[in-house]
Amino acid sequence: MGGIGSGNRWRFGAKQTTRDYRAIDVRRWAREGILEPDKCFNWQWTVDGRQTGQINVRAEQGRVILSYRHQSQGQDWQSREYPVPIVTTEYNLGGARQWFLCPARGCGRRVALLYGGAIFACRQCHDLAYPSQREDASDRAARRAERIRGKLGWEPGILNGEGCRPQGMHHATFQRLTLQHDAHVSRCLAAIRKRFGFDVRM
Ligand SMILES: [Zn+2]
Repeated sequence: MGGIGSGNRWRFGAKQTTRDYRAIDVRRWAREGILEPDKCFNWQWTVDGRQTGQINVRAEQGRVILSYRHQSQGQDWQSREYPVPIVTTEYNLGGARQWFLCPARGCGRRVALLYGGAIFACRQCHDLAYPSQREDASDRAARRAERIRGKLGWEPGILNGEGCRPQGMHHATFQRLTLQHDAHVSRCLAAIRKRFGFDVRM
């Protein structure tokens, strides 16, 4: 079982881009011939020769099963395993290419890349849960939640769940911030549901 830790402790305030997430690329997997049904492989990310994460992948007909462990800042490792559908489009002049269908509930966008955090999802789904230039109700709520995550030293991104109490922080303060965080997250998810009519799987 592979693992993805929150190895790099992201600082709140640093501009996050999709580079900050570990991506999987269906085109590359197709090119390397590892999407044949019944193939199992281990996929790793490295930075400067140091492994920063790994997942296990099992290819089946029309989908891959991702299995890995994820650890949010200060929390226990959690095992995750779920399928990601793969579709093939054929070109008129011959040839074909594969796409992932984003596994976030209600999304299903056809994409080449999925970005990991606690879950692998398309860029649009991650944008919904992370602050962006667009400022609407969900963005504002997400930004407020992120600010609190920064104070608590939690991994950025509301999809990454909750962390623990930082050393030296009073219980009462921690409880207050956690409650505020949860309220902002609820507001953000409610705004997402209203705007897009679907839930992001937590
Ligand atoms: Zn998506």
